[in-house]
Amino acid sequence: VTVAVCDLDGFSTLNDRLGDRAGDALLRAAAERIRVVAGPDAVAARLLGDEFGVLMPLVDGNTGPGLAESLLEAFRIPLRVDGHDLLVTVTVGIASGGGDTVPDLLRRAELALQAAKLTGTNRFRDHSGELDATAAHHAELAAALRRGLDHGEFRLVYQPIVELPTGAITGVEALVRWQPADGPVVSPAEFIPVAEHSGLIIDLGAWILDQACADAAAWHRRHGAGAPRVNINVSARQLLDPDLPGLVADALHRHRLSPDRITIEITETAVFAGGVALGTVRELRELGVGLALDDFGTGHSSLTLLRTCPVTTLKVDKSFIDDLNGTAEQEAIATSLSTIAATLGLRAVAEGVETRDQADRLHALGYRYAQGYYFARPSPAEEIDAALAE
Ligand code: C2E
Ligand code: CA
Ligand code: CA
Ligand code: CA
Repeated sequence: VTVAVCDLDGFSTLNDRLGDRAGDALLRAAAERIRVVAGPDAVAARLLGDEFGVLMPLVDGNTGPGLAESLLEAFRIPLRVDGHDLLVTVTVGIASGGGDTVPDLLRRAELALQAAKLTGTNRFRDHSGELDATAAHHAELAAALRRGLDHGEFRLVYQPIVELPTGAITGVEALVRWQPADGPVVSPAEFIPVAEHSGLIIDLGAWILDQACADAAAWHRRHGAGAPRVNINVSARQLLDPDLPGLVADALHRHRLSPDRITIEITETAVFAGGVALGTVRELRELGVGLALDDFGTGHSSLTLLRTCPVTTLKVDKSFIDDLNGTAEQEAIATSLSTIAATLGLRAVAEGVETRDQADRLHALGYRYAQGYYFARPSPAEEIDAALAE
């Protein structure tokens, strides 16, 4: 037999936006299409969330890759739900074998699915043989991430952005943390890239956006005008999603939050990744949310980008702050980065400030906002709340 696992992308996003009833209808339409493609001899069933499994006997010249191709082809046509044409992308992992048990094939098909998502280009992968070590590690990590998301293993911590020299909190940056049930905390530096390549960042990003807006709204209710604005990181893949501005608008609406209470952090590599991204950035700005250019100064075209990309804040990368050791050159660079911001009417935030000496120097060089371990480490929402109440 051949086992195929199909994952629909963008599905839970659509589900959130359309409501449960339309979501169910979409799910039924997808299941129906899969059954038609798989044919009467196959068994098709929903697995977890937006994943479907297909079990197909290898008869009459049926092949695994053939099944995968037909499934991909079938989803090039939008699904018709409640009078809307909805396009979901599908990724397929397959595994075939005579002597293997179905659970074993299912597990390998699942790994092949994760591997296909990592490569992004080829939308299906055959895992009838073995995967190489790195791909397998990433695939396992991606599978664990998906389970983690279903089981609520993610949380947000917030790092204060303060005003110099008083240290008063004016904003916070939301940073995601993952605590798997069965292991140590994994750093976002490790799992965000995997979430990006596997496409899971779309669902994870939607959760982050919702949670950050919920916390921002709660702070606003409790502390009024003194509540911190909340910065939310958005990755390259999220910026390529034309639904992103709609998702942000929905989250603001759901939590009755005014757009100027949040700032979306983007990186220049993300904006340059594709023409679509710049359009999305402009739409985000039109919503009225703040836009921060993260890791400013580390890319190749930071200055060019400022002409076309409607940002409101520049986050000056930690590398420029680290080097503030008193030499004229380093100070000249740090000063010019803040001057650029001031000239363009943008705010500059110095990132990764670790010492009092750095904070003093930055203030002397004209910086008004800073963030870093010297002021505060990222901490849970309740601790931010307590700090605000002081
Ligand atoms: P980033 O956006 O540049 O976030 C700043 C990182 O620097 C955070 O690491 C923060 O804890 C760390 N940091 C802050 N102050 C200091 C300091 O004084 N010294 C040092 N050495 N480090 C400092 P974290 O939380 O591990 O996040 C790493 C990266 O992961 C982030 O870099 C961002 O690119 C990504 N990331 C984190 N949370 C999210 C998220 O919710 N969504 C997305 N898309 N990416 C995220
Ligand atoms: Ca999915
Ligand atoms: Ca950031
Ligand atoms: Ca940064």
